Amino acid sequence: MIIVTRPNVTTAELDHIRERIEVLGMRTHVSRGELRTIIGCIGDEALLQEAALVSLPGVESVTPVMKPYKLASREFAAEPTIVRAGDGAGAAVGGRRLAVIAGPCSVEGRDMLRATARAVKAAGAGMLRGGAFKPRTSPYAFQGLGEAGLRMLAEVRAETGLPIVTEVMDTRQVETVAEHADVLQVGARNMQNFALLSELGRVQRPVLLKRGLSATVKELLMAAEYVMAQGNRDVILCERGIRTFETSTRNTLDVAAIPVLKAETHLPVMVDPSHAGGRADLVAPLAFAAIAAGADGLIVEVHPDPQQALSDGDQSLTFHAFEALMRAMQPFAAAAGRELPLPVHLDLREAA
Ligand code: PEP
Ligand code: MN
Repeated sequence: MIIVTRPNVTTAELDHIRERIEVLGMRTHVSRGELRTIIGCIGDEALLQEAALVSLPGVESVTPVMKPYKLASREFAAEPTIVRAGDGAGAAVGGRRLAVIAGPCSVEGRDMLRATARAVKAAGAGMLRGGAFKPRTSPYAFQGLGEAGLRMLAEVRAETGLPIVTEVMDTRQVETVAEHADVLQVGARNMQNFALLSELGRVQRPVLLKRGLSATVKELLMAAEYVMAQGNRDVILCERGIRTFETSTRNTLDVAAIPVLKAETHLPVMVDPSHAGGRADLVAPLAFAAIAAGADGLIVEVHPDPQQALSDGDQSLTFHAFEALMRAMQPFAAAAGRELPLPVHLDLREAA
């Protein structure tokens, strides 16, 4: 159930409305926009007697929310949510400016991380990605540097000012990862790890929630609801390709999911063209499509020497290719009414 208040509603009236709902054992969530304030009610809707609420002072309308997701639903928020991972403009996801997160699939060492961070920053990225805990298909493949990788990420953030985005795979890692990272990534394979999602709902860090390999849009939104239900409202959704019968690409980028999500939720939607296509040559066209379809940002894998990468080398861009991508995306961003920072002059000798 959502209650839209009158534009001139007073604080006393708002408090009174909330009390009337909470006394019934329901929870309320207030979303203040410039033009209107919305009170979302969560709990057994049968308890609410619509008529009685409509007549309360300050109430304009009362509408049931039929969707199974509540806090994540578009109706629950007065305005689209902007998630901030730091103070800088580049660390905001959901505003007019497109958010760009770039970096290696895995943190492989301090030097490669530092060089990549400098290169992607110069090219216009606003945040640095890099996995310290890696969800690998094979238990014998490189599993990431773990805590040492987290420390490297934090060091490179101190040097470059770039907020860091890194994956957390397990509830036991949440505290440590949250100590080091600015944004906690939930990987596709963990999208329905409900214990992990609930744990992340109790930390004060934004969550980048990647769509599961075979998850529907509704399941993705219900996963976001798990995080939000525990109190953490800073969730960024990420379309990263889904599994289909097609084998020429690693996954199939579900472009339609972008406008569908934007219609269903107030949460920002990012796209990962690297994992979607699984090939470096597909990153640019998929990124263009994502921007055109209304994505709020992109997360892209970049490596100093993709052929030597310990994970996902095939889909990783070189520094030059990433800079070229940032330039090539400009007209698409402009056509979509979005801003995108232009690369500054990139001195590769310095970046290396
Ligand atoms: C990653 O971002 O490196 C990753 C493992 O992504 P996904 O969970 O989408 O496969
Ligand atoms: Mn990867």
